[in-house]
Amino acid sequence: MAHDIHIIGGGLAGSEAAWQLAQRGYKVRLSEMRGASGSGANTTPAHQSDALAELVCSNSFRSDDDEKNAVGLLHHEMRRLDSIVMQAGEVARVPAGSAMAVDRDVFSAEVERILSEHPNITVVRERVDALPEVGPTIVATGPLTAASLAESIVAETGSDRLAFFDAIAPIVHRDSIDMSKCWIQSRWNKRTAASNEDGDYINCPMTKEQYLAFHQGLIDGDKTDFQQWEKDTPYFEGCMPIEVMAARGVETLRYGPMKGVGLDNPYHTTEEHPQGRWPYAVVQLRQDNKLGTLWNMVGFQTKLKYGAQVELFRTIPGLENAEFARLGGLHRNTFLNSPVVLDRQLRLKAAPHIRFAGQVTGCEGYVESASVGLMAGLMAADELAGRDWTPLPGDTAMGALVSHITGDADAAHFQPMNVNFGLFPPLAERIKKKERKEAYTGRAKQSFENWLAARESVPA
Ligand SMILES: Cc1cc2nc3c(=O)[nH]c(=O)nc-3n(C[C@H](O)[C@H](O)[C@H](O)COP(=O)(O)OP(=O)(O)OC[C@H]3O[C@@H](n4cnc5c(N)ncnc54)[C@H](O)[C@@H]3O)c2cc1C
Repeated sequence: MAHDIHIIGGGLAGSEAAWQLAQRGYKVRLSEMRGASGSGANTTPAHQSDALAELVCSNSFRSDDDEKNAVGLLHHEMRRLDSIVMQAGEVARVPAGSAMAVDRDVFSAEVERILSEHPNITVVRERVDALPEVGPTIVATGPLTAASLAESIVAETGSDRLAFFDAIAPIVHRDSIDMSKCWIQSRWNKRTAASNEDGDYINCPMTKEQYLAFHQGLIDGDKTDFQQWEKDTPYFEGCMPIEVMAARGVETLRYGPMKGVGLDNPYHTTEEHPQGRWPYAVVQLRQDNKLGTLWNMVGFQTKLKYGAQVELFRTIPGLENAEFARLGGLHRNTFLNSPVVLDRQLRLKAAPHIRFAGQVTGCEGYVESASVGLMAGLMAADELAGRDWTPLPGDTAMGALVSHITGDADAAHFQPMNVNFGLFPPLAERIKKKERKEAYTGRAKQSFENWLAARESVPA
């Protein structure tokens, strides 16, 4: 069957993109390397089967609460767009309280059945080793993209635009930081043209006692082990986990990311230092998105377990009530510097016939990857139909996610991101804290319906 579009990668994103395009009448060639015969590796270190849309680890799509949770809201929007991942998830659903969990085998088998029976989809078991030079293409090869294709992507984008490891420092919601203990200032008051008026960092000061207790907490905290195949992927000194640095000596962090020099603590002034003394140690947070709602703990990439991170990081002055948009981690993960190399429609700026989708774009998570696949499918379908793409509003879950990865994130420090309310524009009115989540989802649902109605009123 001659095809209208080639999709590379039959994971969550590629399967969803294929379904969206096929349902709109486009002929899809879906290339999946698992199950291919021939030379070279035709699987990834994490996949266990040849099934399409395999869930490589947990069997959970996380919260299904579309009133109070950003992931639940994403589920809702995907269902409104007839997502195959959500449909198959429903068929495979197992009890999990307010979360959506699935029987992984039933789930993948259902996706595989629907796609392979679809008259507009040809599933081809083949590894693609180079980006196609012509023809509409969606690359959805995931966090463990085959090495040969990764090389081809690097050749197109430049070696510093494709990462092979993420090094995620925790990200904190700005409105959960206690600014009566922290202050905003850049070290030595250094400024650039892009600087904020007061400075670029939120500084959380520590006394010697606090620092020593914190250092011990890093040493003692429960850690996640690297998988054998992750151990084989080198990470740079600049991405070293904070607890590994701590283990090098009690002073190492004070000469590294926690150094207090050049920062005047306004809560600790003396006659000699009326503007404030330098703290013994400091934790710095840097703005992570254009909206200024998310702040990143600088240098705090970590393999501490999630529970241990929350417990320890909430001992930092000013972060006692911190809410984390995401916790730190370090994994093997192939992803693009999307804010730099992709346009707002997920197309490679250097080769616009190629779109990217899924985790390789720098989103994080099963549902997020599938939703970016869904959007890539819709965008490609509109392009094939000669219709202008109407961007999803930034206050919807899908719109917020795609805006973040295609331009709103801090490109210089771009790391994978899951969906969360910190990606949404702040709420206009003063809304009580306990009502904010419903306010975000209520606004999003209204915006999404308006977008859908406008889209459906324009013939394809
Ligand atoms: C070890 C690990 C555990 C994870 N655990 C979770 C979790 O528990 N929960 C969660 O929400 N997220 C998890 N993630 C993150 C992420 O959600 C998943 O990786 C998700 O599967 C990403 O979807 P995707 O469609 O982008 O990529 P994938 O689902 O990985 O799909 C990519 C597909 O492309 C194929 N492929 C790769 N290269 C080629 C090529 N050159 N030619 C043809 N085919 C190719 C692969 O075989 C694969 O089928 C995990 C990631 C990893 C690596």
